[in-house]
Amino acid sequence: MTNTLANYINGQWNHSSATQTLAILNPATLETLAQVPLSSAMEVNQAVTAAVAAFKDWHHVPVTERVRYLFHLRELLKQHIDELARIITLECGKTLTESCQEIQRAIENVEVACGMPILMQGYNSEDIARGIDEILIRQPLGVTAVIAPFNFPGMIPFWFLPYAIACGNTCIIKPSEKVPLTMQKVFELLDLLNLPPGVLNLVNGSKETVDAILDHPQIRAISFVGSTPVARYVYSRAAANGKRAQCQGGAKNPIIVLPDADLEMTTRIVADSAFGCAGQRCLAASVAITVGEARQRFTEAITATADSLVVGFGLDEGVQMGTVISAHSKSRIEELIQKGADEGAKLLVDGRSPRIPGYEEGYFVRPTVLQDVDPRSDLARTEIFGPVLSLIHLETVDEAIDLINQGQYGNMACLFTSSGAAARKFRYKVEAGNIGINIGVAAPMAFFPFSGWKESFFGDLHGQGRHAVEFFTQTKVVVERWPKNWSRQF
Ligand code: NAD
Repeated sequence: MTNTLANYINGQWNHSSATQTLAILNPATLETLAQVPLSSAMEVNQAVTAAVAAFKDWHHVPVTERVRYLFHLRELLKQHIDELARIITLECGKTLTESCQEIQRAIENVEVACGMPILMQGYNSEDIARGIDEILIRQPLGVTAVIAPFNFPGMIPFWFLPYAIACGNTCIIKPSEKVPLTMQKVFELLDLLNLPPGVLNLVNGSKETVDAILDHPQIRAISFVGSTPVARYVYSRAAANGKRAQCQGGAKNPIIVLPDADLEMTTRIVADSAFGCAGQRCLAASVAITVGEARQRFTEAITATADSLVVGFGLDEGVQMGTVISAHSKSRIEELIQKGADEGAKLLVDGRSPRIPGYEEGYFVRPTVLQDVDPRSDLARTEIFGPVLSLIHLETVDEAIDLINQGQYGNMACLFTSSGAAARKFRYKVEAGNIGINIGVAAPMAFFPFSGWKESFFGDLHGQGRHAVEFFTQTKVVVERWPKNWSRQF
């Protein structure tokens, strides 16, 4: 009998009254790890009620005191990094090294939010007219909510959570129902902080839970990360209900390899981008456009690297790539590969249905490389979210940039070159929010916003850094006049 996970509401672990649960499986072994409850609107309401009550005082706790909780949290996350990483690998399937890096990124966001005493300062102008001053103050919004995807269960909530509470808001976290165990452990650590009850709450669930969050009149702001169709839906429903929303969606990330790129470095970096985390990163390279003479050299090198990667259970020594998340995901990826091949692409490395000794039932897809992919095909245009790299060949960098800009997404685009002029043109013209020059996963540090354009983002202000501070505060502008005789007293 596996345990059913609890919600964390008003500083206490609550057994959910949900009638429906889902089994959480280890995607390598298919062992059942736990059951996750699909919480109802009533449980969302309990969390909101606690968060509304907590906000009344939390808002007035000085920001210097609020960030002291984050100093403590940083230490706890560092002390428990191995345990958290192990949980991520068990439920999400990535390698232990990848899971550790993920928690490191979470910690970096806590560190940046510790600077909130300066980050949320307003500004003022004295004597905008004689005897009149004007002041801008930043104040928190109230109750905020975070809805997270499956692929970074330990990191993505931290693009928002530390900023939300450091700014004086209270917050409800809804993890992905596919990987709820990591946040369960994070909340065990948060419980040790002795935050006032209701400042942070955890509600497990899926669509019904999300809809209850989106419709709750006392939730002021929604931070969402997930696929584009759901991001669009969440954004529209949140906006229709008068909420502030930032919704990060899916991606189809292209990279360009020019003939003057350093071949060894480019191959290593592109392989990591395309196949790291089994391609389940919103910043994974999915299409590589070779230009001119780069075609043959890069194709041979990336094919050899893809073939050589060690795939297996992420906790096992020496494993370089883990599983995809589910049977559904595996079959969807394999169908897209077949469709690409049917439409004329050459399968240089076919990673479908590999046999991984000891893990025969696991959701594995090995690195896959297809050549001469039709730029109009599904393979070239749809988000695959698996370890599949499509190669397209063009003659000039301008053609490559034009092709990229025709895509519906705009999460990341990268260029590999030693030419400063080509790099500048690319950086200037390409339509994407995160750009890499000789970088394969252009993930912004915590003190920069995680950008994203076009169908990869709905909203104005992104997660992380200064954007997060803007998102989680509202400005108040005060204009003050004082009588002349008041100033003469000095
Ligand atoms: P998803 O859209 O299926 O789920 C995301 C969240 O939305 C989950 O919490 C889920 O419970 C909820 N949800 C799912 N369907 C819903 C519905 N119909 N109505 C309301 N809520 C719903 O995404 P996923 O499969 O968990 O994650 C992978 C996706 O996330 C990929 O598309 C990836 O590109 C994207 N992603 C984007 C970024 C980014 O920064 N742009 C980062 C990570 C992941």
